[in-house]
Amino acid sequence: MKILLKNGTLVDPAQGIHGKMSVLIEDGRIAGLGEILPEEGAEVVDVTGKIVMPGLIDMHCHLRDPGYEYKEDIASGTRAAAMGGFTSVVCMGNTKPFADNAAVITYILDKARREGRVRVYPVGTVTVGLKGEELTEMADMLRAGAVAFSDDGRGVASGGQIRLALEYAKDFDALIMEHCEDMKIAADGYVNEGLMSTLLGLQAQNAAAEEAMLARDLILAEHLNARIHLCHVTTKGGVELIRLYKNKGVRVTAETAPHYLAATEDILDGYDTNTKVNPPLRTAEDQAALKAALADGTLDAIATDHAPHHSDEKRVEYALAASGISGFETAFALSYTELVKGGVLTLDRLVEVMSGRPAEILGLEQGTLKPGAPADIAVMDVDAPYAIDVNAFVSKGKNNPFHGRQVYGRTVHTLVNGVFAVRDGKLNEV
Ligand SMILES: [Zn+2]
Repeated sequence: MKILLKNGTLVDPAQGIHGKMSVLIEDGRIAGLGEILPEEGAEVVDVTGKIVMPGLIDMHCHLRDPGYEYKEDIASGTRAAAMGGFTSVVCMGNTKPFADNAAVITYILDKARREGRVRVYPVGTVTVGLKGEELTEMADMLRAGAVAFSDDGRGVASGGQIRLALEYAKDFDALIMEHCEDMKIAADGYVNEGLMSTLLGLQAQNAAAEEAMLARDLILAEHLNARIHLCHVTTKGGVELIRLYKNKGVRVTAETAPHYLAATEDILDGYDTNTKVNPPLRTAEDQAALKAALADGTLDAIATDHAPHHSDEKRVEYALAASGISGFETAFALSYTELVKGGVLTLDRLVEVMSGRPAEILGLEQGTLKPGAPADIAVMDVDAPYAIDVNAFVSKGKNNPFHGRQVYGRTVHTLVNGVFAVRDGKLNEV
């Protein structure tokens, strides 16, 4: 089966391409790129005026399956991902049961094969039951198909345990992804400590909760010559530490999430529980530091931290609400609008941090549209503004504080392995 995506603007930083070019797809792979390509035997899809890019790769999401299917499951989550232009997603292990053994990894991969619409890469947990006391059988889970290891949802509190994990992972060149939050310093705070927490009377968490664990992990990575990935970095101090350790040659990579780029703690005014997210939204100064860090390479990736919840878990007072934002369907648009329209990043750099770089960090062959690569493609319309409508989300989770915001960047087509998962902005069930 052949498909010709004709006359689009191809943006593929991995090949240094940004220009008008058609893409020929054959048997699930990129068969050719060029201004004029043969049309015989191909289904021709006109994408004039649209951006054609490698499918987005999300390094960090929560599909909630197994155990919390009322929030999201693999069928709904991967469809929502496709609607956002994602073709590969990495899902965290804080499910029920936890993904702390090979059987759960196998369950996720089997279900994704049957019901998923994008590629799914499960993360195994670092410690058994996320308790921080005993390491999991990482080698078993790697063999079963785990792509990385993380206790995301919380950090590994014990320095001894994370040290052992980093040493153990080194033997397999496995990736440890750390959620940096010192729970003792956080002291049950759920919003950023500062002016807003005082004005609103909400329990605050000092930025030190994030930075202290981040610093500990950087120091360990340096002394052990281990590789570490830092999840959802949100503070200026965190960015400065990462820059310092990258400059020393420490093997650290790091991500932030679209909501930290598109909002600050100021949107907490009004107590909308959809603004409650962990780590919390920070200040304008932190946000500026994150943007600069994406531009200069201190931050490697934008990952959604897609965290869908049932409306009942958000329709409660702020202190009791679940943390998280349903982010698949707004990640590209918020990032494009804030960063590219906002003059912070080129489109090429945005594609790099949302596709090419995550692929490199995870060791995946996607993230580029080189001939021979898997035909995982996102086609975007970045010209027509529209208002975000959470009620139109495919995700079960409608928890997103950006409802009504005007953005640019709408998914036209998403192809996974050369098959349309989304076509003309709608799910394409095959
Ligand atoms: Zn996390």
